[in-house]
Amino acid sequence: MLESSSLNEAIISLLDSDSENRTPAGDKIYDQPLVGFVDAADPLFEKMKDDAIIGSVFRLPGEWLPGAVTIISYFLPFTMAIKKANYKINEPSEDWMHARFLGEKVNDKIRNLIVRMLTESGGRAIAPVCEPDFAYDHDRGLSNWSERHVAFAAGLGTFGLSRGLITEKGMAGRFGSVITDLNFPPSIRSSEVYYKDCPFLIDKSCGACIDRCPAGAISEEGMDKAACKGQIEKLDQFSGAIRDKYSYPYSACGKCQVDVPCENSIPD
Ligand code: SF4
Ligand code: SF4
Repeated sequence: MLESSSLNEAIISLLDSDSENRTPAGDKIYDQPLVGFVDAADPLFEKMKDDAIIGSVFRLPGEWLPGAVTIISYFLPFTMAIKKANYKINEPSEDWMHARFLGEKVNDKIRNLIVRMLTESGGRAIAPVCEPDFAYDHDRGLSNWSERHVAFAAGLGTFGLSRGLITEKGMAGRFGSVITDLNFPPSIRSSEVYYKDCPFLIDKSCGACIDRCPAGAISEEGMDKAACKGQIEKLDQFSGAIRDKYSYPYSACGKCQVDVPCENSIPD
């Protein structure tokens, strides 16, 4: 029987050995992962269909994979080199762009690795974001599967004012998940409250991401998706050369995820 620890070890091994877990300059993109598990029948998934959370566009685990039993969710934190490169204000850092796009290729490899391990163990498994019917509405910033919300359900973290997920390894990185009909014990969720670890949302004692955002997209009310999208489009004027050279489809920002108290850990 496949142990949960084997999945963790396989992800670490891929991150250590895969040459694509490097920027063109040779910097490592991801540090060691966090892995969590959540029961496919967890009532939290039904709640995600609520407009106040994701909305009816969200598809339940069993709607992706009939007979779904467990979701494996993971967080791939960016290395300090990648994060520091993005400390500068405004312009996208070249390394952050590589981490966004090359890093997502590595993330897909990890999704495929987990699917393969589960199927070789006799189960069925899919990674929703790799499925042909995965849909992301760029205008509304909504998708029918949300890696961050699934990571919350799997106990990997809670949301911050900037709407990123604050994990014990911080916020800057990428998330992934796989649905399977194999059974793994669920992780313990530290909180049923979506915003437990962001000091601003507890007593207004942080708010660093408000100042970090060059577009003014983050306020005491949260993050304005339209303003964030507008800023990313605006950044295209700075990133044309790198996008042309590497065929990256758009720019990346992420200033709100670095040089802030939740960058590397849960803030005190
Ligand atoms: S920077 Fe501060 S206010 Fe913003 S999400 Fe992180 S902890 Fe919360
Ligand atoms: S990604 Fe950039 S524009 Fe969007 S909220 Fe974060 S800092 Fe602001």
